[in-house]
Order: sequence, then C-alpha cells, then structure tokens
Amino acid sequence: MLRSVILAASRSSRVERLVATAPFSRDVVRRFVAGAGTDDALRVTRELVDDGLAVTLDNLGEDTVTPEQATATRDEYLTLLRRLGESGLTPAAEVSVKLSALGQAFDEQSAYDNARAICAAAEAVGTTVTLDMEDHTTTDSTLDILAKLRKDFPSTGAVLQAYLRRTESDCRDLASAGSRVRLCKGAYKEPESVAHQSAREVDKSYVRCLNILMSGDGYPMLATHDPRLIAIGEDRARWFDRGPDRFEFQMLYGIRPEEQARLVGEGYQVRTYVPYGDDWYGYLMRRLAERPANLAFFARAVASRK
Ligand SMILES: Cc1cc2nc3c(=O)[nH]c(=O)nc-3n(C[C@H](O)[C@H](O)[C@H](O)COP(=O)(O)OP(=O)(O)OC[C@H]3O[C@@H](n4cnc5c(N)ncnc54)[C@H](O)[C@@H]3O)c2cc1C
Repeated sequence: MLRSVILAASRSSRVERLVATAPFSRDVVRRFVAGAGTDDALRVTRELVDDGLAVTLDNLGEDTVTPEQATATRDEYLTLLRRLGESGLTPAAEVSVKLSALGQAFDEQSAYDNARAICAAAEAVGTTVTLDMEDHTTTDSTLDILAKLRKDFPSTGAVLQAYLRRTESDCRDLASAGSRVRLCKGAYKEPESVAHQSAREVDKSYVRCLNILMSGDGYPMLATHDPRLIAIGEDRARWFDRGPDRFEFQMLYGIRPEEQARLVGEGYQVRTYVPYGDDWYGYLMRRLAERPANLAFFARAVASRK
C-alpha cells in the first residue's frame, strides 16, 4: 500500500516540486546519488574502484519529451565515457542507460541511434553499456533495441525484472554465450496481469530466473540487496562452478555498502550502480518505495530540517 502511494507520488509533478525544493532533500539525495555533475561521478567512481568495486554509472533522467533533451543526455554519456577512459577508470566502470532518456517514448529510431553512439563511445574506451529496464510497456521495445545493438556491440547488457511473469522466458532467450544479463526484482508499479504482486512470488521468480541464468552460457549480473538471494547466488555459483570472472553481484550506491565490501573480500566481482545528475526525483522515490527504513531516514532528515 505504502509502496503504491510512493510510486504514485513519483509520477506527480506537484509532489516532485515540493520534494525537489525542500531543503532536507539534499541530505537524503546525497546518500543515494554521487552528485550533480561529471566530476562528482568520476570522484565517487575512483573511490569505489580503489575499494575493489566495479561501477556502472547512470546519468539520472527519464521520460525525456524532446529530441533536444535526448541529445543532451547522449552527449553527457559521451563526455562521461571519454573522461572515464582518460582517467584510467575503464573497464572497471561501465554505464547504465535508460532508453526513455534517449527518446524511446516519441521516437524509437532516434533512441536506438543515441544508444548506438553511446555503445560506440564505450567500445572506444574499452568498456560496456547496460540498458536499464523500465516499466512493462517498454519491455518489448527495449529488448528489440538491445538485439539490434548487440549485432555490433555484443557485450551490451540487458536487464530483466523478476516480478514480470514473462521474465523466465526472457531469461531462457538471453542465457546465451557472451550475453550479459542483470537480474533484478523490478522497481515499477505494475498490474497483476503482467507482474507478480507479492514479495514471496517475486522472490520465487527471482530464484527460478537466477537458476536459468547461472546454468546457462551467458554472464549473469545478480542485482539485489536481499541477503537470502545473495546467499542463493553464492550457492549456485559454487554449484555451477562459476568463478568471479563468470558472474557478478550488483548493488546500488549507498545501500548495504558493508555487504558490498564483504563480497569483494570473499573474492566476488561486485559492481555498484552509481547515479548522478540533477534529475534525481524518480530515482529517489523508487528507493523510498522499496524499503521502510529508507523512509525513516527521509523522515529524520525532514524532522531535523538541515
Ligand atoms: C544494480 C542495480 C540495478 C538495478 N536496475 C534496475 C532496472 O534497470 N530496472 C528496475 O526495474 N529495477 C532496477 N533495480 C532495482 C530493483 O529492481 C529493486 O527495486 C531493488 O534492487 C530492490 O530490490 P532488492 O532485490 O534489493 O530487494 P528488497 O526486496 O528491496 O530488499 C530485500 C532485503 O534486502 C535487504 N535490504 C534492502 N535494502 C537494504 C538497506 N538499505 N539496508 C540493509 N538491508 C537492505 C533487507 O534485508 C530487505 O528485506 C536495480 C537494482 C540494482 C541493485
């Protein structure tokens, strides 16, 4: 219920104005977002890489409505990738891209063209791109664009969401050699017709999908903070004899950093998803919807009104 209310608020421009301009928001945002600009993204990436983590960077922004916005997002990724290369932060750092930020909603072809330019820039500095997955109305279009991109850039990563009923089948399609697939639970509010609604069903689906990916020929990227699912991931890695070069764990910046360090200490590859940029509202609201403790953190910041 609370999750639905917060996710509904994430689509409200009135609530957005209220939250975005509130003084306390800055402190909350700082916990989950690297900062506003490319320099912040590079600084945080350097810190994480020095701690033995790999990184995927997300330039915040989604639901772009004009070609100019889409071009600006593409250009920011091109700049970011060039600077990551110059700083020696590739291949440890790659980028995550939302096709909606590249114009998917109004012009699929230009979203593809923009994504292609980003993939080419990533390849030029020896790294990769992962296409984030958004709400279910975009899944087919995103997987179509992924398939086209993979013809020229086979290491382009996909994201599959365990809450969608279709995902086991998508996992089977994508568990092929060289195919990088991030498996997450899914962060959007979806109708029962397409998505499991209870946490238990989502978790069970995650495990089924994890088994398909870990027993297949691709490169699974297990994106979760859930201790039970992480333990199952570790177990399946042993069972399927997958060393640290054949799969990875992924977690979000600011969430369970001590667990990220523990896994690195155990010898696993762990990638931290680092968002940066001004357009943090939708991202922050999804993080708040996921976990009551994050809401308590938000409430404390409101109460102290720093
Ligand atoms: C790297 C990465 C990329 C992602 N990309 C996408 C994407 O492209 N599309 C998409 O829809 N979603 C994406 N997500 C979000 C994802 O779908 C989930 O919404 C999000 O990860 C929360 O699910 P969870 O698996 O962590 O489990 P949850 O059900 O949120 O949490 C399960 C358990 O994990 C532990 N836990 C969680 N948070 C904390 C915390 N702050 N401190 C301590 N323990 C905690 C608790 O024990 C909790 O009960 C991504 C997530 C990650 C990590």
